[in-house]
Amino acid sequence: MSRTASQILDAVTGVLGPVESFTPLHEPEFSGNESAYVQDCIDTGWVSSVGAYVDRLEADLCAYTGAHHAVAMVNGTAALHMALIVAGVKTGDEVIAPTLSFVATANAIAYCHATPHFVDIEASTLGLDATKLDAYLTDIADKTDVGVINKQTGKRIACVVCMHTFGHPVDLDALVDVCDRWGLILVEDAAESLGSKYKGKHCGTFGRVAAISFNGDKIVTTGGGGALLTNNETLAKRAKHLSTTAKIPHPFQYVHDEVGYNYRMPNINAALGCAQLEQLDGFVAEKRNLTQRYVEAFADIDGVTVFSEASFASSNYWLNAIVVDDDSQRDDILETLNGAKYMSRPAWTLLHKLAPFSGAPCMNDLSVSKYIETRLINIPSSPKLYRNRA
Ligand SMILES: *Cc1c(COP(=O)(O)O)cnc(C)c1O
Repeated sequence: MSRTASQILDAVTGVLGPVESFTPLHEPEFSGNESAYVQDCIDTGWVSSVGAYVDRLEADLCAYTGAHHAVAMVNGTAALHMALIVAGVKTGDEVIAPTLSFVATANAIAYCHATPHFVDIEASTLGLDATKLDAYLTDIADKTDVGVINKQTGKRIACVVCMHTFGHPVDLDALVDVCDRWGLILVEDAAESLGSKYKGKHCGTFGRVAAISFNGDKIVTTGGGGALLTNNETLAKRAKHLSTTAKIPHPFQYVHDEVGYNYRMPNINAALGCAQLEQLDGFVAEKRNLTQRYVEAFADIDGVTVFSEASFASSNYWLNAIVVDDDSQRDDILETLNGAKYMSRPAWTLLHKLAPFSGAPCMNDLSVSKYIETRLINIPSSPKLYRNRA
């Protein structure tokens, strides 16, 4: 164990205390009305794809985020797929996305028979670099009457997907400005950023449409689930229609007007979600306090930084991350922390390197993504870790 790894282990132990059992990165927590609401679904028989909790979860999400419409889905990937469809992504299009993201971002693009086109991130946000994107588009694309055309592939670039990494908002003003100037639609993969704000406004309300996730490891969970957010009523209605098998509402007849999807969230999952949302502000506050403790504990360790929000951001700090200057130290730190039962893991493998996307177009200069890929480590971040030690 190197000196840095041992200092890091001491810092994490100081914040979290010694642990008997494995401490995951993020554990779900059910200390509110979860049992009561789920029991209510069972008692009333409303467990499946229609029910009062689905409507309530959608209303609660609108109230919480400020989005005008929310459509609950079976998972975040399905929500993102639906978001891209209603944003107008078509077969043969290219969709700009950061190469540093979870694979679902690229998968959802592929489900539309479109090609992801990978670009670099910014070190200060871990999200899409708007300035670099603008310069890159100037190099490779033409703005035409039929949209933005990639001069190298001849394909239409349909939209830009940004992702708010570990809950940290990208620089949305800069990105919205670039998208507006190019006439490109912005879609937010806000899967990780429920509870995060950019200049006081909730993530997921800046793009034409956004997707959030309620998977078991996200800040609030419905077991599995997700939601689409938008301010556009037409798009919200279309997403709801397509995700309910495109069935034309009728008391007894089954008529479907296009190929639809079975993507709606079941009521029993929404019940869990309603109870979880009631606790979201508390979770965010505890996560932010936990990060503050990590920042203090790591302050004196050379060559290691706890990733902190940009000045314009209020992050939910879904997953805490440390960045080590020297990439040769990363694996030693990962082994040391995991060996001491503090779960830790590196950043995702960059998407352009994964087999299914190896032929996809990408920016030549992905230097910041590559830097982060080899140096970032996520460390335990459950809200109760702060509460138990506060
Ligand atoms: C979790 C996640 C998703 C997908 O959500 P699921 O609910 O797991 O399908 C999409 N994008 C990102 C960045 C995620 O972290």
